[in-house]
Amino acid sequence: MHHCRAMCCRGPQCLRLTSAEVAALRNQAVHLGVAIHIIESPDGAGIVRFLDHPGEHCPMLDHSTSACRIYSSRPSPCREFPEKLRPGCAISGG
Ligand code: SF4
Repeated sequence: MHHCRAMCCRGPQCLRLTSAEVAALRNQAVHLGVAIHIIESPDGAGIVRFLDHPGEHCPMLDHSTSACRIYSSRPSPCREFPEKLRPGCAISGG
């Protein structure tokens, strides 16, 4: 992510979370001292809008290093992305 500046964790994008991931992300945010705003739906699922956070990036992204602060326990959408090889994207193998 250092080469691409983690552009998939920045800008007008959202992170969709299951109810279990909402709880986990809240705990991680408290542990790291990160302010996080999660829009929760009645079923407990949630959305993190990057534009709602300082720097307009995921609150778990370390802006100075472009590293994910919770990489080893990141939510499923982050684990499943990218779904295919993308030119210039190191984590996709591109
Ligand atoms: S949790 Fe980590 S990998 Fe997922 S969007 Fe945030 S910074 Fe990126």
